[in-house]
Amino acid sequence: MSGPRRVCRQWAKVSFEKFAELARGPDAAINGVQMVSGFQLSDNLTWLKDQEAYYSDIVLNFRWLTDTDLSCFNQVYRHGIFYTTFTAEGQIYTPWLLEKAKSLGAKFVERKITDLTDLANEYDVVINCTGLRSANLTPDRHVRPQRGVLLQVKAPWIKHFVYDGNDETFICPGVNTVHIGTVRQIDDWRTHVDDESKEGILKRCSNILPSIKDAPIVKEWAGLRPYRMNPRCEREIITTPSGRKFPVIHNYGHGGNGFVMSWGCAQQVASLMDEYFKEKSKL
Ligand SMILES: Cc1cc2nc3c(=O)[nH]c(=O)nc-3n(C[C@H](O)[C@H](O)[C@H](O)COP(=O)(O)OP(=O)(O)OC[C@H]3O[C@@H](n4cnc5c(N)ncnc54)[C@H](O)[C@@H]3O)c2cc1C
Repeated sequence: MSGPRRVCRQWAKVSFEKFAELARGPDAAINGVQMVSGFQLSDNLTWLKDQEAYYSDIVLNFRWLTDTDLSCFNQVYRHGIFYTTFTAEGQIYTPWLLEKAKSLGAKFVERKITDLTDLANEYDVVINCTGLRSANLTPDRHVRPQRGVLLQVKAPWIKHFVYDGNDETFICPGVNTVHIGTVRQIDDWRTHVDDESKEGILKRCSNILPSIKDAPIVKEWAGLRPYRMNPRCEREIITTPSGRKFPVIHNYGHGGNGFVMSWGCAQQVASLMDEYFKEKSKL
């Protein structure tokens, strides 16, 4: 496993443990985090073995599907895995997280930043989590949009997730609806749901679970994942026009794994910040 991949895996492991804590904690009814089990199916054994290497010892109940298991699906797949993990439903989880941060004393100010050095006189350290727009603030040109489309349907009879690795199609039960998707369109900046993507998703998902065809669509959205070959989570010392050295900790470019890696990256940001203050105190 390559160095960056090993690091991402470690971030995912830390996050998994945190999501497990949130799912069993007192706020589980309101934080949008839940335990789910399900299937990843594919004809590509190499791809599934890669999934196994990446997280089989992080998730719960990981096992390979038998022919009997595979025969339960409407489509024919050559291989599959089963596991239990946690999902965090953004529309519920992020407002909860915001309130949690406020209750712990975090202050929120909304303001457009045109140059990171503008913050040098106000803050000791800046943590740059500007996602897809990070290229406006850094010389980094490696972040690109990877468009996704997601539909939420009312289908309470679906209790397991199914991910079809042959064509990146997923069906995943959320708190009140079932999420179905997706597309991965690189350098596509459209943020509206187009008919072609929507119809494609409905067709692919209905092939997996025919009952999806008649499930009412409750919501639909298109979003842009901040795609980068490897997420950037590191410290940089930048120099202000007046020559002052100023620390920025970058934390962006997580593509479609922003939640998956969130707690691990946050932990790394915190230790980079600690390191900086320790170094500073020795000067
Ligand atoms: C289609 C889609 C599917 C996804 N699927 C998954 C998934 O399966 N699993 C998973 O874990 N995650 C998933 N995600 C989540 C995804 O990984 C995160 O949305 C992504 O990492 C972006 O999060 P972020 O916090 O880095 O950036 P953002 O959420 O984009 O936040 C960046 C913030 O910085 C602000 N900002 C930017 N520039 C400036 C500036 N100059 N001045 C002031 N403010 C600025 C923006 O306004 C924004 O509030 C998905 C996202 C999408 C869009």
